[in-house]
Amino acid sequence: MYNVPLALVDAYRGRHLVVRSRDPDLISAALSTKDCDDLAYVQILGLSAPVDGLLRWECGTPLDLVVEKPTEELPLLYKYSPLLTDRPVRVSVPFAPGFGKVVRLAISLDFAVKLEGSQPAHSLAEELLGVASDYLYRPSVSVPVEFFHSLFLAFFRQEPVSLWAVQEEDPRRIRYVTDQNEETVGKRFIGMAPPSDFNEFVSAQIAGLITEGGECRGCEFVDSCSGYFKWPARNYRCDTVKVLFRTLAEAARELRSDLAACPTNGTGAA
Ligand code: SF4
Repeated sequence: MYNVPLALVDAYRGRHLVVRSRDPDLISAALSTKDCDDLAYVQILGLSAPVDGLLRWECGTPLDLVVEKPTEELPLLYKYSPLLTDRPVRVSVPFAPGFGKVVRLAISLDFAVKLEGSQPAHSLAEELLGVASDYLYRPSVSVPVEFFHSLFLAFFRQEPVSLWAVQEEDPRRIRYVTDQNEETVGKRFIGMAPPSDFNEFVSAQIAGLITEGGECRGCEFVDSCSGYFKWPARNYRCDTVKVLFRTLAEAARELRSDLAACPTNGTGAA
């Protein structure tokens, strides 16, 4: 799959695509129902443009609303709410001051959520753990909040998971094509030299970090994280991130144990 700017759709026609644009009207004008079969979803970058074209767009393609400035764009989320009638809509929110409010409003409007960016500032620790607590324990939350959701499910089912894949940054599955038509791993890699081997990128990243002997070596979450939070700064401290991992893992363990104790599962008291 490829994440491409709208201007490059013709060059990638026939592939499975995520198409991105700042202008929802351009998307609805340029992509017909015939194109929709190739689309995984469409990304709208920033929330300031009008949405009228999307409301009339005949494709039921899922939308990803990419928030760029959480505090400024918070009130603009409401205008996208009617789009939920025709298609799934996700809100992608960067780790930036105010992101927690955007997540909470998105959840209350029934949008799925994805948290973006790999190295949340330590000043955002409280906001991040608060959002995780809402996701885990607030009964009114009925939409997935990624990457929490996939990690929690994997911990609950005791299945392997790759944070790179969850965050759509595993280049074996998806490549990000820059506006200059250069393939890279994801948007946080723009401006850096692309990896020499896309297929080996994730394994090379974690192998290098372990060889260096830093925080990843011996990290209890290395199998699911593979050094995701060590990009771009390899000296980023993972204290908050590890608290988050532990919170999700503990909640999954509690749920498993509650279910195991449930008489209908045959393992609890008679
Ligand atoms: S949580 Fe941090 S230390 Fe652990 S594997 Fe991920 S990046 Fe490495």
